[in-house]
Amino acid sequence: MNVENLSTRDKKHLWHPLSQHKLNKPQMAIVKAKDALLFDEDGNEYIDGIASWYTVMYGHSNEYIVAAMTKQMQKLDFVMFSGLTHEPAIQLSEKLMEILPKNQAKIFFNDNGSTAIEAAIKMALQYFHNNGEKRDTLIAFEDGFHGDTFGAMSASGLSSYNGPFEDFLLKVVRIPTPQEDNIEEVKSKLSQILKENNCAAFVFEPLVQGAAGMKFHSSKGLDALIQLCQENDVLTIADEIMTGFGKTGKNFASDYLVNNPDIICLSKALTAGMFPLSITSCSQAVFNRFLSDEVHKGFFHAHTFSAHPIGCAAALAGIALLNSPEIQKRRTYIESAHTSFAKKIKNHEKVKEVRVLGVILAIDLNIEMERYGSLRDKLYNFFLERGVLLRPLGSTIYMLPPYVITNNQLQKIYNTITEALDTF
Ligand SMILES: *Cc1c(COP(=O)(O)O)cnc(C)c1O
Repeated sequence: MNVENLSTRDKKHLWHPLSQHKLNKPQMAIVKAKDALLFDEDGNEYIDGIASWYTVMYGHSNEYIVAAMTKQMQKLDFVMFSGLTHEPAIQLSEKLMEILPKNQAKIFFNDNGSTAIEAAIKMALQYFHNNGEKRDTLIAFEDGFHGDTFGAMSASGLSSYNGPFEDFLLKVVRIPTPQEDNIEEVKSKLSQILKENNCAAFVFEPLVQGAAGMKFHSSKGLDALIQLCQENDVLTIADEIMTGFGKTGKNFASDYLVNNPDIICLSKALTAGMFPLSITSCSQAVFNRFLSDEVHKGFFHAHTFSAHPIGCAAALAGIALLNSPEIQKRRTYIESAHTSFAKKIKNHEKVKEVRVLGVILAIDLNIEMERYGSLRDKLYNFFLERGVLLRPLGSTIYMLPPYVITNNQLQKIYNTITEALDTF
C-alpha cells in the first residue's frame, strides 16, 4: 500500500497548469464531489463557488447526466466523426438549433474551448481565402481571453499569459470594450481599424470578459460594433465558452443582442463539466462559402475526439436540465440573492465596485493585487480554510456557483466574503 498522501505523490511527476512550481504549496487533492461540494483527502469539504471553472452548472456527479453518459457508453463508446456519423451528435445539433440564436445553422465539433476558437479563426480566414481574398487581421477586445493554443492566444489580450509567445502570434488589433459612456469612441476606433487593415473577423467574449475579472460591457455597444463589422463584410465570432448555458440570465449572452454573430463557440458548461467537448457553430452563409466542386475549399480541420458520443450524451442531458423548471427557479433565486448581497456590500470601504449579471457576481477590491501575487494567494487560502473554493482574479473576487447550490451554501459564501472584506 502507498502510505504517502496524494498531495505528496502529486509532486513527484505532475506539472500543473498556471503554476510556478518553485513557489506553489502542494496541490490539494480532491477525492470526491457531489452537487456543490468538493471533498479533499482528509475529509474536509469545500463549496465550489465557481462551479469548477464554470463547467459543472448542474452540480458535481449529477445523477441524471451520469446515467445518460453511462447508457451511451454501453451502446456506442466512440467512433470517428469523419466519414461516419451517430445519433448523439445529430440529436445534439438539433437541440442546439432550438436554443442558439436564430441565424445559426451548422455545428462543427471540437474537443475543448481553445480548439473551438481555433476552428472559428480558421473558418473565418478560409471564408475569405475561398473567395480569393487575403484577409490577415483579427480584431479583439483588450484583456480578452480565448484560450491557450496559438490562434486563441493571439486573440487573447491578457499579457500575463502570452508574454513569451508574442513574436509568434497572428496579427490582431485591439479595441477597448464598449461601456455606456464610450460607445461612439470605440465605434470610431473600430471604423478606423476596418479602413486600415484587411480584417477577417472580430472575436469577442459577449457582455462578460471572464478571465479579465468578470468585466462587463454594454450590449448596446457590442451590438453597434457587430453591426459595423457586418456592414464591412467582416465576420463576428462570439466566444460564449464562459457565458453560455444560462450564466448571464439568458441561454446565451448573444440573446441580449439584436445583431447575431456569424460564428459562436461553446464549451465548458456545454457538457455540464462532465466531458471535454466543444462546438463552433456558424450561419448558413459561412457554411456555404465552403461548398465547392473543388475539394480543397472544404474545411480540412479535425480533432480525433470530435463529437465524442459520450460528450454529446452529457450535453443533451445538460440542455434538458437547463430549461427544466427546477433549474430555472434556482437561477432566478441565485440572481436575486446575489443582488441583495451586492447591495449590502457595495459601500464597504474595501469594495471598489460590485456587479451582478445572472448567476455571476463580481467584486473589485480597493486593494491592489497582482494576478498571481502573494496577497491574492492569501485571499484564496483564506477562503479555502473556511471551506469555500473561490479563485480571485487579481483583486476581483467572483462567484459563479452551480445552479444547484443550496441557499445555505450561498449564504456561507457571502458570509465568508464579508469576513474577508473585514480582514484584508
Ligand atoms: C475557458 C475559456 C476558453 C478556453 O477553453 P479551454 O477549454 O480552457 O481551452 C476560451 N474562452 C473563454 C471565454 C473561456 O472562458
